[in-house]
Amino acid sequence: MTSVEHYFHDIWTKAKSALREDSTIDKIVYDTYFDESSLAFLNDEKAVITVPSFVQKTVLTQKKNLIKDILESLGYVVSIEVLLNDEFSPAQVIDTQPFNDNVRPEYTFDNFIVGPSNKEAHSAALACAFTPGRFYSPLFVYGNSGLGKTHLLNAIGNYIKKNHPDLKVYYTSGSDFVQAVVDSIASKTDSIDNFKKRMFSLDVLLLDDIQFIAGKEKSHEIFFHVFNELVSNKKQIVLTSDRDPSEIKGLETRLISRFSSGLTVGVDSPEFETALAILKARLSTQTMDGIGVVEDDVLSYIATNFSKDVRKLEGALNRLLFYAVQFSAGGNIDFKLAMGAFKGAASVADKNEVSPNKIKRIVADYYGLTRQQLISNSRTKNIATARHIAMYLCRKLLDLPFIKIGEEFGKRDHSTVMNACEKVEGNMKKDQHYKSMILELEKQIVQG
Ligand code: ADP
Ligand code: MG
Repeated sequence: MTSVEHYFHDIWTKAKSALREDSTIDKIVYDTYFDESSLAFLNDEKAVITVPSFVQKTVLTQKKNLIKDILESLGYVVSIEVLLNDEFSPAQVIDTQPFNDNVRPEYTFDNFIVGPSNKEAHSAALACAFTPGRFYSPLFVYGNSGLGKTHLLNAIGNYIKKNHPDLKVYYTSGSDFVQAVVDSIASKTDSIDNFKKRMFSLDVLLLDDIQFIAGKEKSHEIFFHVFNELVSNKKQIVLTSDRDPSEIKGLETRLISRFSSGLTVGVDSPEFETALAILKARLSTQTMDGIGVVEDDVLSYIATNFSKDVRKLEGALNRLLFYAVQFSAGGNIDFKLAMGAFKGAASVADKNEVSPNKIKRIVADYYGLTRQQLISNSRTKNIATARHIAMYLCRKLLDLPFIKIGEEFGKRDHSTVMNACEKVEGNMKKDQHYKSMILELEKQIVQG
């Protein structure tokens, strides 16, 4: 069995034992109709159960709601389809999967602040969005973490979706690409050929953090095919990386030389004026009750001291606002208050009151889990959600390197942690309720 088949088998074994124990199903009924069933497919939306005979199909179909409830209790909220073994074809499931372009709606050109540090990347990105595939394909954007690469990539996606709705756009990250390759190798419902076919059908491929593909042979090879196919058909490819292509270890030279057919541009740390403009833009979209005006010298202080990257800039502003909610009593946020906010945070870290363990404990408690569950391999939805949040808070409150956080959470890969942090950040932007939940957890951790 492949690992995916094992995974389905384990889930279905649990579901079957729940069915066996269900009071509405006699033992004889179970043995006759349910025992031979299997879980043939499962994703975020759908489970396909297969059985050998028509009668079994009829009986299980009548019990769809019960099966749905049982899978839900195991953490899988999905619709149920029952098929005969012969009726199930992997291709059919793939065809019925809705296409999800993965583009994040919150990142647009409208809310991207342009300055000397990112002007070039911004105008190249705009050119790709205006006339996909015409000017620069591939466009390669590189620069340190937190400088707006992911933002620009998604801005291109959103622009094209709006203005060229006939084009098929897809955003993915290097680590998700590798995972998709691994999954399609392991899966009996998918195949590498299907995966490639899906990629070949794109008009616009936005691939973030391509450095994760380097050194992963199979993924690298598949990416090379996809790349050649799309570029030679005048499709648009945009790639990002944390460094210049020639410095990515494990990326084949034949691929690097293909990149030179397009355009490579860098993004830098924002200059003071850009940093200030970003802060002002953030403030203007943030509606927080009980907070007065942030005075100019405070913004200048943040723009000077936290402008190495935009994520830090935003982090500092959030810290300030979080502090102000508690201590400003609705008055202006002046320099003295700001000093309290930043000094307070530093001293908390110094005294080491906040630790990964404390974060794990508080987040686990909040979700009614144990710390062990939090670092386990379980992918059950609420455990995974809690884990992502705890990882994000370790990053935000302790500024730990991704690798360290990965070690804290059951030796996970640093790209997994990065994805988790990005996911939480994304959700916070989209969902006010979720955001206040995170802020509340943060408060408990810092003060508790
Ligand atoms: P990267 O992918 O380079 O690590 P991101 O695109 O994830 O960086 O940016 C980190 C955060 O900073 C995001 O919230 C993003 O919206 C914001 N950001 C970065 N650059 C800008 C900019 N020029 N204008 C507005 N927001 C920005
Ligand atoms: Mg990024």
